[in-house]
Amino acid sequence: MRIIIIGGVAAGAKAAAKARRVSSTAEIILYQDEVNISYSACGMPYVISGAIPELDQIVIRNPKDFSKDNINVLIRHRVIKVNPKEKCLKVKNLETGSIETASYDKLIIATGARPIMPTIPGIELDGVHTLRSIADLELLTSKIYSKQPKQAVIVGAGYIGLELAESFKSCAIQTTILEKAGRILPQFDADMAQLVQEHVAEQGVTIVLNDGLAGIQGNNNQVTSIQTESGRSIPADIVIIAIGIKPNTELTKDTDIELGPSGAIKVNDRMETSIASIYAAGDCCESFNRISGKAAWLPLGDIANLQGRVAGENAAGGNARFTGTLGTAIFKTFDFNVSITGFSEKNARALGYDPIALTVTQLDRARYYPGGKTIHLKLIADKKDGKILGGQVIGPGAADKIIDIVATALLGKLTCGDLENADFAYSPPFSAVLSPVIVASGALKTKLKN
Ligand code: FAD
Ligand code: NAD
Repeated sequence: MRIIIIGGVAAGAKAAAKARRVSSTAEIILYQDEVNISYSACGMPYVISGAIPELDQIVIRNPKDFSKDNINVLIRHRVIKVNPKEKCLKVKNLETGSIETASYDKLIIATGARPIMPTIPGIELDGVHTLRSIADLELLTSKIYSKQPKQAVIVGAGYIGLELAESFKSCAIQTTILEKAGRILPQFDADMAQLVQEHVAEQGVTIVLNDGLAGIQGNNNQVTSIQTESGRSIPADIVIIAIGIKPNTELTKDTDIELGPSGAIKVNDRMETSIASIYAAGDCCESFNRISGKAAWLPLGDIANLQGRVAGENAAGGNARFTGTLGTAIFKTFDFNVSITGFSEKNARALGYDPIALTVTQLDRARYYPGGKTIHLKLIADKKDGKILGGQVIGPGAADKIIDIVATALLGKLTCGDLENADFAYSPPFSAVLSPVIVASGALKTKLKN
């Protein structure tokens, strides 16, 4: 049996490794159009800041490592056509330009996503960057170290924009973030996003809201400033476009592989597409939200790995299931840890729930123990039955621990009443005697009764 995998960063690399563990005899071929495979894009902002000294550190496995497991990785090979009827592909060797045909028994599409690019004048100028691949990272870091830019404009106040603002401060680059919406971080509730905005502004970053990018000006092909939709001109010797991503679904064109409502590839819980023997995993596909049961696109590294594992196992003859997403995510910007799980209050309402919410602010250890840091927890529950719907945890303190408790509560369909009496670990260096989850759940339960 021959398994072919298209794309080899998170989902594809994980699918290949898992398929080999399940079947020692299958022939496994992975086509990857980049030079690198199996790397952590998540680590890229820290390579720019210098927190991770060497780029190589974020490359997890190379083609030689895969060949030890008898997985044939062909880098600089782009699949240009999928023919499900004939069960074959057309593949272009990007080094030689030659095109060959390869047949498969099982196919896994793990083509990922790419940055959304605005069509505006000046977008092609030297100094305009995105951050998605290792090639993007190399270009950006070489620009920073060779030209030592002094002023950056980051377009988009989402995850990449806010992570990079911190990286740029480490490189002594003065940064302006331009955000089209009236607030930063659209995934979060506005009251919680406001806390992040204030923190980032305190670090010397200028945040411009309610304004979009209209054009980019340059001199000798090099960026010098940007023009906003409202007519503002902001000087810049480097511009980052970070306004979101779209799934790479071009290979589904002229096939019966269906896309879901988000525009990403539709899959079932075995990561099978609408065509037998073809699976998809990672940022190119959507799955479903575990709380609502509705289709959801959550383009994140951990989800790509989980889905890749299921697709790899099933392509090799197993029967694994992906149990859906919760919308859990975390990132760091300067001294703030910013995390979310489940629905925001706003999204819960939009989805037809009747949510109640409450925010508690506490230190992440006993008040008298040195080094305690603040965390703000917003907990959201369903008014109907007290079931937890989501949480957002923000601040310099241990947000990661608290958000994972709330995510686990969502997994277990727990209520405020269940959490109010939870037995969590306590000792002064680690937590407050009553976790913010317990405090917020108790207060929400009282609020429910009124
Ligand atoms: P991709 O990483 O997009 O890889 C797909 C690969 O397939 C690419 O190399 C692409 O070139 C290749 N390809 C596409 N089409 C073809 C073709 N036709 N033929 C051959 N090859 C093809 N997620 C988190 O959970 N936590 C984080 O902290 C986090 N931080 C991030 C920071 C940054 C700066 C970025 C950019 C992303 C971050 N993410 C994070 C998201 C995470 O990196 C992605 O969700 C993950 O990389 C998705 O993996 P993937 O394999 O599905 O797709
Ligand atoms: P994003 O969706 O997080 O943020 C995009 C931002 O750009 C939003 O605030 C949006 O309102 C704004 N925007 C949209 N159009 C605009 C315009 N024309 N002008 C100005 N602002 C505009 O996307 P991203 O920051 O590009 O990140 C891409 C993806 O990478 C994320 O969706 C996430 O999946 C992944 N990522 C995850 C992490 C993490 O989990 N720690 C970190 C980095 C990236």
